[in-house]
Amino acid sequence: MALLTLKDVGKIYVSDGNVAVGIRGVNLSFDRGEFVAVTGKSGSGKSTLLNVISGMDSYEEGELCIEGQSTSHYLQPEWEEYREKYISFIFQDYNIIDSFTVLQNVELALMHIEDTRERRARAMELIGRVGLSSHVRQKGSKLSGGQKQRTVIARALAKDSPIILADEPTGNLDSATSKEIIALLREVSKDKLVIVVTHNFEELSQVATRHIRIFDGAVESDHAVRSIEATSSASGSDPSPNGGKDLKKELIRQVKNGLTLGKTIFTAKPKLSVFLCLLMIVGTLGIFMMTTFCGSAMDLFDPHYMFNHIDGRVVVTTQSGKALTEDEVARLAGELGATDYLRFDVLLDEGSTIRIVLPTGNKDERDRSVRAAYTYGKSYGDRIVGRYPQANDEVLLYLPIYLQPYVGKDTLLIDTVRAGSMDLRVVGVKYYYDNNKTAECLFTEEGFRTATAIYYLLNNSSNSLSLTLSPKNGMGSQRIEVGTVTPSFDMPADKIYIDSSVFHARVKELERRGTDYDVTLDFIANYRKYNYQYGDDFTAMTFQRTFTKADLTAQKPSYHASTQDSVMISDELLRQMAEEVLSDSYKQASLFFANDKEAHKAAQRLQDAGYIAVPSDTTYEPDAFSVILGLLGSLMMAFLWGLGIVFLAFFINLCSARTLGAFKGDMAIMRSMGISVKVIRIAMYVRMLISLIPAFILAVLTAILIFTTPKLNEYFVYLYAWQYALIFIGMLALTVRITYKQIRKLFGESVKKSLKGGAAE
Ligand code: ADP
Ligand code: MG
Repeated sequence: MALLTLKDVGKIYVSDGNVAVGIRGVNLSFDRGEFVAVTGKSGSGKSTLLNVISGMDSYEEGELCIEGQSTSHYLQPEWEEYREKYISFIFQDYNIIDSFTVLQNVELALMHIEDTRERRARAMELIGRVGLSSHVRQKGSKLSGGQKQRTVIARALAKDSPIILADEPTGNLDSATSKEIIALLREVSKDKLVIVVTHNFEELSQVATRHIRIFDGAVESDHAVRSIEATSSASGSDPSPNGGKDLKKELIRQVKNGLTLGKTIFTAKPKLSVFLCLLMIVGTLGIFMMTTFCGSAMDLFDPHYMFNHIDGRVVVTTQSGKALTEDEVARLAGELGATDYLRFDVLLDEGSTIRIVLPTGNKDERDRSVRAAYTYGKSYGDRIVGRYPQANDEVLLYLPIYLQPYVGKDTLLIDTVRAGSMDLRVVGVKYYYDNNKTAECLFTEEGFRTATAIYYLLNNSSNSLSLTLSPKNGMGSQRIEVGTVTPSFDMPADKIYIDSSVFHARVKELERRGTDYDVTLDFIANYRKYNYQYGDDFTAMTFQRTFTKADLTAQKPSYHASTQDSVMISDELLRQMAEEVLSDSYKQASLFFANDKEAHKAAQRLQDAGYIAVPSDTTYEPDAFSVILGLLGSLMMAFLWGLGIVFLAFFINLCSARTLGAFKGDMAIMRSMGISVKVIRIAMYVRMLISLIPAFILAVLTAILIFTTPKLNEYFVYLYAWQYALIFIGMLALTVRITYKQIRKLFGESVKKSLKGGAAE
C-alpha cells in the first residue's frame, strides 16, 4: 500500500471574483524511501501541490489518501493531527522562529518527548547531526541562510515524520550551500518520503529517485531516475506521538507543553515581554485606583444611624417633652436590667476635631488634626501604647496609623491633645489601618461626664462672663468683662484663677491702699431649651459665685488651656453648673444592655411604658427622595466603575494585540509544524499570565509598603486582603478574556493566510 495517494486532485483559487487553477487532475502515488524532485515553471502549481499534500491548503476535487485512508472528510482538528503525525515542511524562506534559539527551534519539534532532559539531549544530538553544535544558543535571526535551513532540517528530523516536504529549500542559498543542504537532506531521510520542489533539477540529479514535471497545474511527466534504496522497515516505526487514547494523559501533556512553550515565547522577545509587563502593571494600578475610588462609593450603602451606634445602647426620652430626672433614669435602668446608663449622653453623638499638640521645639512638623468621636468605658485590648485613662483629664486616643510618627510607636511622643476648649493629657494610644474608620477619644466615665459639661456649657459663643470687684471699704464695685471660662483639672472647686490684665491693675490699686475685696463671677449660660409644644426656645441661666481674696490663686495652674483673657475655674465647679443647665434642658438619656438584641427588647418595654425609646442600631427612616438620590449615586458610581474597567480592557487589548501580532508569523510556523492549536493556545495564556506576575508582585509590595510605612496611610487608602484578592481576580479575568478574544481572532485564519500575513507584514 502506498504511503500517499492523490486521485484526481484539483485545487482552484477564487479571489476577488478571479478564478485561478492551482492544480488539476493530479494522480500521484508516493512511498517511503522516495526522494522526489518536482520541477515546473513559475506559477505552474508546484507550491499548491505541496500545500495540499501538507494539509495546509484544502482541495476541492478528488481525494488525498494517507496510508489508504481518505482525508476528504477532514476538518481543522483532523488536519492538525495529520500534520503533527506525518508532515515536516521546509520552506524557501526558512520557516524557523527568529526569536527562538536553534535549540528552542529544534525542541519545539520534540514536544512529544516528555522528559525535558531527554528532550534536550535529543535536540543536541540532532543539532550535531546538521553541524550546528557551535550555534546552539544563537537566535534564529542571527543565523545565515544555510544555518537556518540546517536548523529546519534538524527540526524536521526531530519530528521524525514519514513525509518531508520542501518548497525550494535552496532558493535563497548559494550553489555550494545548496549542495550541502540537499546532501544533508538525503543523508538524514533514508527511509522517509521526501518531496522537493525546485527550479533547478541539476542540484537534485545526484540524489533524486523520481522526477515529476508540472505544467499548468497538471502532471506533465513522471519518471523514476534511479532505484529506491532498500529501506530497513517499509512501514517504519509509528511516529505518532499520541498513539494512546488516554485523554487525561494527553491533556496533561498538552498543558505541560503549553507551559514550556509559553515560557519560551515569553523569554524569546524580552522587549515585548517587558512592555507587556508594564501594560499589566498599568492595568493593575488602574483597577487599584478604581477600587479605592469606588470604595468610598460603597459608603452610600452604609447604614445611617440616628445615633452613634454602640452595641446594646438604647436612647430614651419622654413623650411629654419633660426632662428625665436622674432618679427616673436610674429606676428605669434598674427595672430593665441595664448594665449601665448615662443621663447626659450628648457627647456620645457628637464628635469634634482634636488637635495633636506636638512637643515644643518640633519645628519640622505641623500640628495634626483629626476628627474624633468621644467615648468611655471601652476596651481596645491590652496591646496599646501607654495605658488607659484614670483621671478626668486623661484620654487614650484611637488614631489612624498615619499619625503614629507624631504620636509615638512604642512610647508616647506627645502629652497633650486639644479638644475644643479642653486640654487633655494623652496617656495611651492605639492605632488602626482602615482609613474609613473614625478616630476616637476615650475618657474615664468621670472624665466623659466632665467633658460633656465642658462641651455643653462652653462651646457656645453667646455665653457671657463678667467679674465684679467689690472693695470692702464701701467704695463702689467695678464690673470687668472677661473673655471666657476655662476649666482647670487640677484646681480645688473653691478656687479661681483670673488671667486679666485689667482686673489685676484694679486689684493692685486696691492692694496699694490696703483694701480687702471680694470677687463675684457672673456667668450667663445661654442654651436651647426644647419645648415639646411650642418648639425650641432659647433661655439663659445665670451662675453667680463669690470668691474672697484668699480664694484667688496667684499661681497659674500648671495644667490649663493657654487662653488669654480668661477665668479659670475647677472642672468640678464647671460640672456643677453644666449639670444644672442640662437637668433643665436635656431630655435624652442612654441605657446600656448586654447586646443589641437585649436593647431591642428593652426599647419595646420602654415604649409599652409610654416612653420614646430607640435602639442605637436604628437608622433614619429614608424618604423617597434620599432613596432615589442614593440609588442614583450608586448607579452613577457603578457606571463609572464599569466604564473604567471597559476602558482599561480596551486599552490593554489594543496594546497587547500589537504584541500578539508580532507572534502571528511564529504561530503559523508552529501550526505548519503540526503543533496543536491547543498547545499554542495554552502557551498564549501562559505568556499573558506570566506578564501579570510583576504587576502582582508590585501590588503585594505596595500593600506591604503601605502597611509598614505609617505615613503613607494618610494618602493611600488601606485595602483589606479580600479587596486585594478582588483586584487580582479582576485582573486575571480581564487577562484571560483578552487572551481568549485574541486567540480566537488569530486562529480564525487559515495557516496559509497567517503564514503569508506573517511573512509579509
Ligand atoms: P508555483 O509554486 O509553481 O510557482 P503556485 O502553486 O504558487 O505555483 O501557483 C499556482 C497558481 O495558483 C498560480 O496561477 C497562482 O497565481 C495561483 N495561486 C497560488 N496561490 C494562490 C492564492 N492564495 N490565491 C489565488 N491564487 C493563487
Ligand atoms: Mg512556489
